[in-house]
Amino acid sequence: MNEAISIKDLCFSYNSNIQVLENINLTINHNEVFGLLGPNGAGKTTLLECIQGVKNGFTGTITVNGLNVRKDGDKIKPLIGVQFQSNSYFDHIKVDELFEFFATLYNIEITEKEIKDLLKKVNMQEYKRSYVNKLSGGQKQRISIALSILNKPQVLFLDEPTTGLDPNSRKDLWNIINDIRKEGTTIILTTHYMEEVEALCDNVCFINNGSIYTVGKPEEIIKNANLNSVIKIGLIVDSSAQYLESCSTVDKIKKEDDYFYLY
Ligand code: ADP
Repeated sequence: MNEAISIKDLCFSYNSNIQVLENINLTINHNEVFGLLGPNGAGKTTLLECIQGVKNGFTGTITVNGLNVRKDGDKIKPLIGVQFQSNSYFDHIKVDELFEFFATLYNIEITEKEIKDLLKKVNMQEYKRSYVNKLSGGQKQRISIALSILNKPQVLFLDEPTTGLDPNSRKDLWNIINDIRKEGTTIILTTHYMEEVEALCDNVCFINNGSIYTVGKPEEIIKNANLNSVIKIGLIVDSSAQYLESCSTVDKIKKEDDYFYLY
């Protein structure tokens, strides 16, 4: 079986009136990087949380490695890794202490060597004794990715792992994420960046208003999609990207930093 995650007829609402996820059907294969795209409020985080088993009350069926999320939640939790937002860490704690703290949360032992190896994976070995509040945004993101694989997960969830980073830091993180995938991990990430999808993702799903707009390989989607419709659901492409050539009919193109934000 090549299926890491299977989602059938998933619906979810926070209250009975508003449906946040509507009839989602998706298959995510082992060892692929799967991208979830869509504008703010589309339902990406809610979908990730349903798969992780932290949202109750959905209808439909979700399985992770063949285990049913509703029935086998306790068996699934050790298989998954979740990246926490790096700005929510305690500031007055050293990097290695943060790893020890997270290990206690996972209820596992962690050795000094394991901390060193994790830091090496994200090119942060020399910051082991640094205070977290002295690190840059990009360094904190790298630490948060290392923490997310502390329990050696088979399935890793990354929610906008490179948001707010400059282009070079973003590319560094892409290399790190690719290395994690090479070790056999299935990765599901949300992003607003089209170049990120192209650099990392085997398959991608666009979500809009809680429904799947389109799903497939990034290059096929770009080739086949009605560009204006895709743009309307919110993408960010870099200024050198070919998509800009077709953007004359876009309602709004906003340039910030080195990126064009298309809505
Ligand atoms: P995305 O991650 O794509 O930005 P979310 O999954 O966070 O989207 O949100 C989807 C919809 O659910 C939005 O309309 C949002 O306002 C709503 N929502 C998110 N969290 C809650 C919550 N805890 N209670 C009620 N509504 C929520």
